[in-house]
Amino acid sequence: MAETVPHVPSFEGRAIDGKAFAAGLVDRITAAVAQLSADHGVKPGLAVVIVGEDPASQIYVRNKGETTLRAGMRSDTHRLDATTTQDQLLALIAQLNADAGIHGILVQLPLPGHIDSTVVLDAIDPDKDVDGFHVVNAGRLAVGLPGMVPCTPLGSVMLLKHAYADRGGDLSGLNAVIVGRSNIVGKPMAQLLLAQNCTVTIAHSRSRDLAALCRAADILVAAVGRPEMIRGDWIKPGAVVIDVGINRVPSADPVKAAEGKTRVVGDVAFAEAVAVAGRITPVPGGVGPMTIACLLANTYVAACRENGVTPQPLEA
Ligand code: NAP
Repeated sequence: MAETVPHVPSFEGRAIDGKAFAAGLVDRITAAVAQLSADHGVKPGLAVVIVGEDPASQIYVRNKGETTLRAGMRSDTHRLDATTTQDQLLALIAQLNADAGIHGILVQLPLPGHIDSTVVLDAIDPDKDVDGFHVVNAGRLAVGLPGMVPCTPLGSVMLLKHAYADRGGDLSGLNAVIVGRSNIVGKPMAQLLLAQNCTVTIAHSRSRDLAALCRAADILVAAVGRPEMIRGDWIKPGAVVIDVGINRVPSADPVKAAEGKTRVVGDVAFAEAVAVAGRITPVPGGVGPMTIACLLANTYVAACRENGVTPQPLEA
C-alpha cells in the first residue's frame, strides 16, 4: 500500500495546491457541461479503452470514469482482454471515431507488447484525441493552430499562470527550463511556454551541467522520472517549480519499507526545494490532479467544436 501523505511543507503558502485548483477547474467544467446540454442538447462523451490487467492502469481508468460521470458527461469504458489483437483494437477505435455521442477517445498506455501504440494512437480521429498525442495535434501545437493539447502540460501551465497571479498570469520574458523532452510532457510543455512568450530551454540526459542550467530558471519544470534528482541548490531563489515526476520509492520509515510499503515522490527534492523556491508543486497533490481535470476540459472543448459551439473559458 502506498502512503498518500506528501512531505509536510515547512514553508507555508509556497506549495501549490494542485488538488484544490483541479477541483475548482472540474467545478467550472461541470457548470459548462450543464450549460452546453441545456443550450444545445449536447452531452460530452469520453470513451476510455484499456487493454490488459495492469493494476495501476485499472485504477487510473476507474478514476477517469468516475470523474467524467461526476462532471455530467457520458463515460464509456472498454475493458479488453490482454490477448486482444491490434486489428481488434483498431476496429474498436474506428467504431468510436464514427460514434457521434463520443467526443473524446483515450487509449490507456502502456499497451501490451504485441500492439504498436504509435499505430493505435495515430488511428484516433485527431479531433477526438483528448490526450493530444496524435502527430496532427503535436503539429497543430507547434504551429499555433487550435488542437488538443496533452493534459499534463496543459494543467501545468494553468498552475504556472496561477502562481504568477501577481503578474496577471503573464509569463512573458521569464526563463523557463524544462528537464525532459518526452513527446507527452517535455516537448508540448516547451511549445506551450514558448506560446506564453517564455525563453525556453529543454534539458535532457545529454545536457551538460544540468544544475547550472536549472539555476538560471525563473520557471523550472521537472519531467524526468528520477526520484528527487533536482536538489534545492539547483533552484534559483524565488523560482516557480513544477514537478511532474511520479516515482514510487520505499517508505521513509525503515520498518514500513521492510514491509514493502512505498511512497510517491517527485523529480525534485521537495523538502530542500521548498526552502528556496517561490512556489512549488508537491508530489502527490500538485500536477497529478490537474491531468484528469484537463482530460475533462479537452473532452468538453472537443464536444463544443464538434457542434460549432464556442467553449466557455475554463481558466479561473
Ligand atoms: P520519459 O518519456 O521517460 O522522459 C524522461 C525524460 O527525462 C527524457 O527526455 C530523458 O532524456 C530525461 N532524463 C532522464 N534522465 C535524465 C537525467 N539524468 N538528466 C536529465 N534528463 C534526464 O518520461 P515522461 O513520460 O516524460 O515522464 C516524466 C515523469 O513524469 C515520470 O515520472 C512520469 O511518471 C511523470 N508523469 C506524470 C504525469 C502526471 O499526471 N503528473 C503525467 C505524465 C508523466 P533523454 O530524452 O535524453 O532520454
